[in-house]
Amino acid sequence: MKSNNRDGLLIVISGPSGAGKGTVCKAYLKDNRDTILSISATTRNPRGSEKEGVSYFFKDRPTFEAMIKNGEFLEYAKVYDNYYGTPKEYVFRHLKKGLDVILEIDIQGALQVKKRFPEGVFIFIMPPSMEELKRRIVSRGTDTPDAIIKRFKSAYDEINYIDQYNYVVINDTIDNAKSTIESIITAEKSRVDRNKHICNDIQGGNTYD
Ligand code: 5GP
Repeated sequence: MKSNNRDGLLIVISGPSGAGKGTVCKAYLKDNRDTILSISATTRNPRGSEKEGVSYFFKDRPTFEAMIKNGEFLEYAKVYDNYYGTPKEYVFRHLKKGLDVILEIDIQGALQVKKRFPEGVFIFIMPPSMEELKRRIVSRGTDTPDAIIKRFKSAYDEINYIDQYNYVVINDTIDNAKSTIESIITAEKSRVDRNKHICNDIQGGNTYD
């Protein structure tokens, strides 16, 4: 899909597990009502209080594979032995309505989106330090020791991909990270190439909104 100047922004947020992507996104969404979070499909089991259709759409593997075959995903990837994917229709329907849509996805997925949708805004969330990252992963208490080691190792690998992103946001406090993202989005929305309609309207003698 090609976006036009009045569509919402597609905002892709990645970062190592434990960087606090989810919390930062939640804080951003609370204060920015013109933005929605895309809900992914996954084959992993629900954790704790996660709910179907709120945290994820939980699918079994054959169903997920059928969705891949039907071309229902904007991107999908295998992360820690499970599939995760972004349902295409939901995202484009809301962008067309002028809403911004956040995809909180891993790097493999972000790279696929960048190829198909380069006008997206690609943001990488970093922890303030690797020590702090480790502390956050462990204190979450939802993973086995093996899964913790796996997540920490992949954090190092993931950080190598940072130059594929447009912006880096350090999550030292949720409030700082949220404000930085707000500044990024304000700047992106002011870019001349996203505001061609204003020039066209003025030249055509129309007012713009
Ligand atoms: P978790 O299992 O902790 O919810 O998520 C594990 C990883 O999968 C996170 O890095 C998360 O950003 C990523 N993820 C969640 N949804 C998607 C998706 O739709 N596509 C891709 N590529 N990654 C996703």
